[in-house]
Amino acid sequence: MSVLSRPEFHDEEAAFAHLEKIVWAGEAVCPHCGGTDRITKVKANPAKRIREGLWRCGDCKRQFTVKIGTVFEHMRIPLHKALQAVYLMTSSKKGISAHQLHRILEITYKSAWFLCHRIREAMASGDMTPFGGLGGVVESDETYIGREPGMKMRPGVFHKMKVLSLVERGSGNVRSYVLDTVRLKEIEPIVRGNVHKLSTLMTDDAKHYQTIGRYFYRHEAVNHTALEFGRGKAHTNTIEGYFSIFKRGMRGVYQHCQKKHLHRYLAEFDFRYTHREAAGYNDGDRSVQAIKGIIGKRLTYRRTYIGAEAGL
Ligand SMILES: [Zn+2]
Repeated sequence: MSVLSRPEFHDEEAAFAHLEKIVWAGEAVCPHCGGTDRITKVKANPAKRIREGLWRCGDCKRQFTVKIGTVFEHMRIPLHKALQAVYLMTSSKKGISAHQLHRILEITYKSAWFLCHRIREAMASGDMTPFGGLGGVVESDETYIGREPGMKMRPGVFHKMKVLSLVERGSGNVRSYVLDTVRLKEIEPIVRGNVHKLSTLMTDDAKHYQTIGRYFYRHEAVNHTALEFGRGKAHTNTIEGYFSIFKRGMRGVYQHCQKKHLHRYLAEFDFRYTHREAAGYNDGDRSVQAIKGIIGKRLTYRRTYIGAEAGL
């Protein structure tokens, strides 16, 4: 027996029951009228093309499944395969490619690609609660990856795509943003918007942090150029560890990432790091957390992907 031999990964009825348990927490809710009292299950019947997971609301007489209003709405591949994909994506530290999912799940590459993005959308937290606070320490740093669209390759990092990440020390929560430039006017609002002003901000000695640092209770800058790596607690090792996981994953699994999709890959790496083993999450918990994230993301999902899916 392996984890992947659980019924929800093979049996469509069990898959729906699993998703319903997480999304509805035990009580079916009609997405059309919000009713909960007169809901009955519609028995699946392949001969009459009645699929698994269908419910009927006695108040508004309409039918629905638990997928309505989530990123899985309109998804054509079987739910048990989608749940396997969630498990595989959340349990492998560096992620899993759409090519690999296409082979493992025996679905088309195109379906696998969209499934990956659906799951990434579920992983995006959208939480804007400021990091840190009194006594809290937050590390902020930038990294460079791939190539900025239309830029020529040249020595240095100028032609690369730019990423800003913030890590809250202790909890290890991470939030990352795609930047167009590493200028003060772009970085300052992100750092100030995500970090509580009573925090200690830990950065390198980049010039923009001299200005941004003044808005916080304390600011410590590590002088990388002078090889002064970390004086005691003044270091940015946490964020550098995160960047190295992100870069190894992007290099190994996702070779070609366009800038317009970079924020989704970042959401995936942020999610896995925030819910990592050291923060008390095992593979199963992480998978449940990702599934919880599918709720209420339909609008974002539709806006972002349905057009793209049609235009492929
Ligand atoms: Zn209803």
